[in-house]
Amino acid sequence: MVATRTAVVVVGAGPAGLTLANLLRRAGIACVLLEEQSRAFIEQRPRAGFIEEWAVRGLEERGLGEQLVAKAPRHEKFEFRFAGRRHTFNYGHVTGQRHFVYPQQLLVTDLVAQYTGEAVFEVSDVRLHDLTSASPAVTFRTAGGEHRIDCDFVAGCDGARGVTQGHFPAESTVKAHHDYGIGWLALLAEAPPSADGVLFGIHPRGFGAHMARTPDVTRFYLQTAEGETEADWPDERVWEELQARLAVPDGPITEGRLIEKRILDMHNYVVEPMSHGRLHLAGESAHLVAPIAAKGMNLALHDAFLLADAFQAHYAGDPSRLAGYSAACLPLVWQYQEFSLWLSDVFHQTAATAENPFLARIAEARMRRLLGSPAAAAAFAELYIGSNADL
Ligand SMILES: Cc1cc2nc3c(=O)[nH]c(=O)nc-3n(C[C@H](O)[C@H](O)[C@H](O)COP(=O)(O)OP(=O)(O)OC[C@H]3O[C@@H](n4cnc5c(N)ncnc54)[C@H](O)[C@@H]3O)c2cc1C
Repeated sequence: MVATRTAVVVVGAGPAGLTLANLLRRAGIACVLLEEQSRAFIEQRPRAGFIEEWAVRGLEERGLGEQLVAKAPRHEKFEFRFAGRRHTFNYGHVTGQRHFVYPQQLLVTDLVAQYTGEAVFEVSDVRLHDLTSASPAVTFRTAGGEHRIDCDFVAGCDGARGVTQGHFPAESTVKAHHDYGIGWLALLAEAPPSADGVLFGIHPRGFGAHMARTPDVTRFYLQTAEGETEADWPDERVWEELQARLAVPDGPITEGRLIEKRILDMHNYVVEPMSHGRLHLAGESAHLVAPIAAKGMNLALHDAFLLADAFQAHYAGDPSRLAGYSAACLPLVWQYQEFSLWLSDVFHQTAATAENPFLARIAEARMRRLLGSPAAAAAFAELYIGSNADL
């Protein structure tokens, strides 16, 4: 067993772990980044695309956003397609804020390139030890053998399927969970976008969405029934439903080869508190928010900023920021969870006409209010573009 020592072991090289590791390194705090996948794999894994302006500015202020700011197109409006008509919603006009559209794998690639500290890829069997002592440790395997790193802290940034969350004691941890009872079929198509930005189709057949990603690739989503799998969605059915759910008289959807077809379970959870002993969670290891409102990566960045600040304060002699880390993160987590739940009702309930006409009509009433009332539109815009304001 090869044994070493560092200040912070960061488990997971997603947006949360990479941002944190970069910030620690820049602050002169020793850290080791552990990732179970290869570098090539994480630099190609497509997931998020929409980053909120406050998060982009947060990266930029910390010296991590140069490529993103230089290259990412800005989006400040989207289109609802409802009752066969287009309704443009210009949230940038209302809030002065925009989304930056930058595929997650590009941000990950930038953050890996900027990180000058030690990173170990393709690790397995990551285990955490002595988390409530002053000197915890992390053990893991690589192709070269077994390793142990003694450290001051562990940052659990290993996402929703990681191992760090499992070290939280059941008796002092609440894992609040919500299941939407539906799925989303996430699709990537080699097809030029059919519109500049985002289209949300609110339709009795179910929700459908279009998101421009690059000049040649478009992301689509389709609401699916609980229990459906990818096998229930041959390409012909995918295009038939996208054309129907996003239909307007003059706006057909451009079709292309489907290069990703994946059912996402639509559920959310929050682990409270986000710290246990010397282990602090950041990002999806602590809270999952289904991609309904494109909030997950933004929250992961928020946690990483706060955790980096707290570690810096700790090493400068102030332990209070680390003690208050979880309480500092959770208000925004719950604001974004609440908005995702609300938006889910608007997006998905019009499809409930057959089994629950009451809820379908409620969803339609909400849509009409959103499109007809400037005050309702302003409140919606503020939540949709998001903010790290302390609410
Ligand atoms: C289709 C889709 C679209 C999305 N769109 C958006 C969007 O537009 N905007 C937005 O804000 N969010 C979006 N999200 C959510 C966003 O992708 C996630 O919230 C984000 O990836 C979370 O970052 P993270 O660093 O917490 O976790 P992850 O990105 O999951 O990173 C965790 C890392 O830990 C590694 N790991 C796991 N287990 C271990 C282990 N045992 N040991 C070592 N390493 C381990 C994983 O390989 C991974 O690299 C979307 C998600 C999906 C699925």
